[in-house]
Amino acid sequence: MRPVERGTIPKDDNGNDVAYSKYQDSRGDLIKRLGDYCSYCEMQLDASLAVEHVQPKKPKGANQVIQSRLLDWNNFLLACTNCNSNKGSTDIVLSDYIWPDKNNTFKAIEYQKGGIVRVSPTVISPLKEKVERLINLVGLTKQPSIEKEASDRRWNKRRIVWDKAERAKDRLQKCNNDYMREQIIETAESDGFWSVWMTVFYQDADMLNRLLSAASYKGTSRQSFDQNGSPLIRVAGEI
Ligand SMILES: [Zn+2]
Repeated sequence: MRPVERGTIPKDDNGNDVAYSKYQDSRGDLIKRLGDYCSYCEMQLDASLAVEHVQPKKPKGANQVIQSRLLDWNNFLLACTNCNSNKGSTDIVLSDYIWPDKNNTFKAIEYQKGGIVRVSPTVISPLKEKVERLINLVGLTKQPSIEKEASDRRWNKRRIVWDKAERAKDRLQKCNNDYMREQIIETAESDGFWSVWMTVFYQDADMLNRLLSAASYKGTSRQSFDQNGSPLIRVAGEI
């Protein structure tokens, strides 16, 4: 899961903090800061990408919307319908989880061939449980759906992109030049699943740095990686 920095609340034309009249109005600003990817599963999306409240605006059992959460820029991420609906309105104690805007979630979660996602084996208790809670909260490990509608495509797409990234790596070995590298980054930008590309190319510092500064992957927490693209513990993060 790509660690991101949404930055401070955007300013209006007069230099004041933007006052959104409804939370949906923040969508354009969030896409400018984070790129058009789900903050959790990393799927590249267009129209269906929604403003996600990290702490739900109306938690299960609450009688009314919690106003302080509704329009709070620091409570916003972007999410696909699958991550959004899995997360639902479960009320959140922030410190029970790790989050992509506060921690190096790439260091916490391991990606493998076949679309597999799991807690990185280097993460130990009690942090391990926090990572597990995040993975379960958004249903990141859900297997390809066997229902006819096949409405949850996250695993399947991740698996396909992994294979594509491996083929790209093979081609790069046969034709190792700047043009090929640029082409692979453009493919990674249009296909999404940044963490998959970061994992497949983990031995290639040049490719990691290109992925870390790729134009479409806006808001990647560059400071959470060293100059070779290896993940670091995030400043002020738990991992
Ligand atoms: Zn998602």
